[in-house]
Amino acid sequence: ESVFSHVVRAPEDPILGVTVAYNKDPSPVKLNLGVGAYRTEEGKPLVLNVVRKAEQMLVNDRSRVKEYLPIVGLAEFNKLSAKLIFGADSPAIRENRVTTVQCLSGTGSLRVGAEFLARHYHQRTIYIPQPTWGNHPKIFTLSGLSVKTYRYYDPATRGLNFRGLLEDLGSAPSGAIVLLHACAHNPTGVDPTLQQWEQIRRLMRSKALLPFFDSAYQGFASGNLDADAQSVRMFVADGGECFVAQSYAKNMGLYGERVGALSVVCKTADVASRVESQLKLVIRPMFSNPPIHGASIVATVLKDRNMYNEWTIELKAMADRIISMRQQLFDALRARGTPGDWSHIIKQIGMFTFTGLNSEQVAFMTREYHIYMTSDGRISMAGLSSKTVPHLADAIHAAVT
Ligand code: PLP
Repeated sequence: ESVFSHVVRAPEDPILGVTVAYNKDPSPVKLNLGVGAYRTEEGKPLVLNVVRKAEQMLVNDRSRVKEYLPIVGLAEFNKLSAKLIFGADSPAIRENRVTTVQCLSGTGSLRVGAEFLARHYHQRTIYIPQPTWGNHPKIFTLSGLSVKTYRYYDPATRGLNFRGLLEDLGSAPSGAIVLLHACAHNPTGVDPTLQQWEQIRRLMRSKALLPFFDSAYQGFASGNLDADAQSVRMFVADGGECFVAQSYAKNMGLYGERVGALSVVCKTADVASRVESQLKLVIRPMFSNPPIHGASIVATVLKDRNMYNEWTIELKAMADRIISMRQQLFDALRARGTPGDWSHIIKQIGMFTFTGLNSEQVAFMTREYHIYMTSDGRISMAGLSSKTVPHLADAIHAAVT
């Protein structure tokens, strides 16, 4: 008898479990719209040309060794990552008020930031949007923070519940942490307008709420790296403090390389350097120091003007393909006369469409059409192609009629 015989089987992860179910399905028409990973028109994963080029350069450089990185990661990568999210002319960077540490993609950056806050910040409550990426509440709870939600999405309008958001942040205790999706909110695809961001900023600063930005889709939402960083830059421009978790999974296609960064913008350079010293105490017992390969790829691309430009072109092509999938799906539903208003498909931003389909309709589409997606009705537009749009439109049409 095993000493572990009492261990009960855990449920599959709600997002990654979709792929597990998909892999088991022998149907030739099966379609995986669960996980947020970019696919080409041919349905294949994409390694960017500029990434291949950077890897080749790294391999050819015989002076490169496999030594450990410092606890905070690759210095050059950290500097370039801060510049990418805050802007080349950011006063916060110039004044050395930003500390950036390399972490294990977006997830690891969120986790390290949250652990630091649980140890050193006076307010242990974090407000996350309702709904949000399913990993958020787990990351923050395990880090020792207490998780509350603020209203975000209005199912009736399939848009932002702006009044609810302001009310909930307005009644949050002073100093509370607030998780904000920098752009391309997951799963809803609904972002505040710039005017709304400005109102959120004013409210948060007036109540000393601490912004923690999750930036997993910079450049992926609009195709423009600066446009997708505007929310973050508004909060940095006012001189206040904030946290930012960055991921290169989507925008550089480095999913499995686990490349990301946590930046903390502080009031002074002295505070920033003390914060960094404590971030090292969080990282050292957690994973000691981050991996070298992915960060070297990113640094190689970001520091060379030509490679950077090449990246922005490839990034825009990915974003544009997703945007064109929105239009094609919308047109296909209209052509079928599918009941309902589907304009949210073209209005929403980023990788996902929050369709409004309920869990029974999703189960029906999986059972009858072999289409795999999360039960909240979220579909990854990046997993669609011109060839598969008709099949998805048929399934949605059948599910709602
Ligand atoms: N935050 C959000 C909102 C996401 O959608 C994701 C990925 O799906 C992440 C963070 C982190 O992803 P990763 O850890 O792969 O960078």
